[in-house]
Amino acid sequence: MSTNRISKWLFLLMLAVIGSLSCGSDDGEAPQPEQPVAASLELSISEGYTVAGHAKPLLLSLKALDNEGNELFNPSYTILVNGEEKGRLSTFRSETSGSFELKAVVGTVESNVVLVQVREQQVYQPKTYRIIFHIVHDGEPLGTGYNIPQDRIAYQMELLEKVFEQSSNLTPNSALPNIDFELASIDPEGNMLAEPGINRLQRPDQSASVLFEDWMWGHYWDPDYYINVWVGDTKNGYSWGIYPEFACSEPTLPQGLGCTSATDVHRLEGIALELDNLYDENWVFPHEMGHVFGLFHIFSGSECSTDVDFCEDTRQYNRVAYENTPTAHVRTSCTGDEFISYNVMDYWQQLNGARDLTYDQVQRIRAVVDHGLWRGGKSLSEGTPRDMSAIRNGG
Ligand SMILES: [Zn+2]
Repeated sequence: MSTNRISKWLFLLMLAVIGSLSCGSDDGEAPQPEQPVAASLELSISEGYTVAGHAKPLLLSLKALDNEGNELFNPSYTILVNGEEKGRLSTFRSETSGSFELKAVVGTVESNVVLVQVREQQVYQPKTYRIIFHIVHDGEPLGTGYNIPQDRIAYQMELLEKVFEQSSNLTPNSALPNIDFELASIDPEGNMLAEPGINRLQRPDQSASVLFEDWMWGHYWDPDYYINVWVGDTKNGYSWGIYPEFACSEPTLPQGLGCTSATDVHRLEGIALELDNLYDENWVFPHEMGHVFGLFHIFSGSECSTDVDFCEDTRQYNRVAYENTPTAHVRTSCTGDEFISYNVMDYWQQLNGARDLTYDQVQRIRAVVDHGLWRGGKSLSEGTPRDMSAIRNGG
């Protein structure tokens, strides 16, 4: 390479360096777009209730608008919890119980305040119940028609245990009552059952239903010791669970439930389960057990004016409006927000997989465990089951 050529090459290189410097300088001094200013903030939270230490957090969402009403994308904000700065939280959970006030702050603009009640975790004494399924058939061979196979019962027990015994952590205020449901292994006369939890019998004739009719007293196992579930023909396509009664002297009667002055069993207690409700992903059986333990539906009939189930922490909605324009598993609550219902005391059109109970529902269940009459909570070591036909006839 000649000296001339080197000089020319150096000159071009210098031009390139100057050019690139000047470009960089221009970029650095370009005017920046002004940061949009939030004029209003709206904070919302997925639930108003949770339980201390619950694995499932509450979800926070913030809507920020500028002074022309345009929504700001991804604003930077800080959440204050009871006045204390906690940073840019998108979820909330607490290890301690109490009332919490949350609000969002962007610069000098503050959001509305959302309230969260964090309940104290309850520790309940374990309680065991034994269930007897009376399979009421028409003489069909075992495993056909109304004479359903054992695995249908095993499947229903799985669903029951998922609701009452296993944490699903689907909703932040779910809880468990510390109940253990088992299939009965011994009949009222003290004999070992051939099939655990199953008593097969033929109904008197095909006009007889399992809807708590008189003939069933002959196949009624003492409800002090067993939860009776009659499976078969209810004649109307629906299943039913009998609400508990309390002694009228009982001072802690849960709201909405009745009391009786009867001193002994005076009616058929338990569940009538329609055969059609036993197929896969049908949660009717645990739902009816909820009724047996004093729970009401979480929805109202056609309005939203009352606390229909006496549980503050269930999301309630208008069922008639929902059925007029069904929106699959999404419900619109009485306070106007949309939610996905996992509660076992809701009706059909829920997501498959799991159902749960809320903290307040569990408190009602435990009141029934402690004070409800003829719920089947006695163990066979505490006494001897009676002949219920004799009780029916006044003996
Ligand atoms: Zn129901």
